[in-house]
Amino acid sequence: MTFSTYASKLSNLKTNVAMFHGPNNLVVEEREFSQDKNESVVKVNACAVCGYDARVYRNGHKKVKAPLILGHEICAEVLQDIHVPDGILRSGTRIAISPIIPCLDCKFCHRHQYNLCNDLREIGSTVDGGFAGYLKIPKEIIKIGGLVRVPDNLKNEEVALLEPLACCLNGFSQLGEIDPESSILIIGDGAIGLTHLQLAKRLYHTKTAVVGKIGSRIQKAKSMGADEAFMFGSETIDDVLNFTDGYGSDIIIVATSNPDALNLATKVASKNSKINLFSGFSNDHGFAPDPNWIHYNQVSIIGSFSSTPKMLQKAATLASDGTIDLSKIITHRYSLNEIKQAVLATEEFRGLRAVIDAF
Ligand SMILES: [Zn+2]
Ligand SMILES: [Zn+2]
Repeated sequence: MTFSTYASKLSNLKTNVAMFHGPNNLVVEEREFSQDKNESVVKVNACAVCGYDARVYRNGHKKVKAPLILGHEICAEVLQDIHVPDGILRSGTRIAISPIIPCLDCKFCHRHQYNLCNDLREIGSTVDGGFAGYLKIPKEIIKIGGLVRVPDNLKNEEVALLEPLACCLNGFSQLGEIDPESSILIIGDGAIGLTHLQLAKRLYHTKTAVVGKIGSRIQKAKSMGADEAFMFGSETIDDVLNFTDGYGSDIIIVATSNPDALNLATKVASKNSKINLFSGFSNDHGFAPDPNWIHYNQVSIIGSFSSTPKMLQKAATLASDGTIDLSKIITHRYSLNEIKQAVLATEEFRGLRAVIDAF
């Protein structure tokens, strides 16, 4: 096939997409994809449903202007050679995608902290995402190395989960040096909480507990190596204090958007602890930590947001070499036509991650 016939074929790519038209209004519809010189079109192999997608579907989000295709945890396949900073991604290459689209011109972009860009756009949030048979890749993503070639031993659905794994790696990177003697408490028993759990146990070898609200997930946390996994309730503070010999936890990762977790974190934090707010919260969180408690106990409350292409590369290595087992995080698979069921499973905390793997 000559280049021109291939290019014209690419300009007529029809596919189904799940279009978000506003809260509670998600429609699977047909759409045609074409590409221009600023964008490359790739084929989507799998896209996981994040808690963020479910929240946007139900309530909307200030960042999301409908109509828009959601989905930012993506495994894709290159259709036409793409020139990337370290070579060429040939047609047929499978890739993970860093969904952040930086301006390349602000202080943070100059420091390669693209996730903090002052004019950040994001695939699946401000630009069309992966709940579609094809996806347009903005040139900025290509420029910063945001298309990451993935090893053959990872399934498409595992590749889709490299993005959240990269975010968890970014979260850990904000905690500084982690002593294996440290105790870590993960508040949240979902896909993100249990990915943090695997990192804590397998990469940092810390004494690690999980607090959650879903019985089956608590069991899963135990089977995945948690030293303890507690149901959230009236005993939780005592449970965590017992787990940490009365001191409280050295590191606390808040991996749930439930604001109850914020107050719990302050009650089970050790002196000199670091609390990472990994999740976003709705505006009515009511969290107002006592500045004197922070000062006299030398506590740090920090945040982490999204990730960078470097983290995505590290995620691919850790998943491929078996350090992290992402297959344990995937529990449901759906076709694009069943996307509402996938969102519902996510909302109702059924299993862990649901993945759309047929378009
Ligand atoms: Zn996500
Ligand atoms: Zn920027």
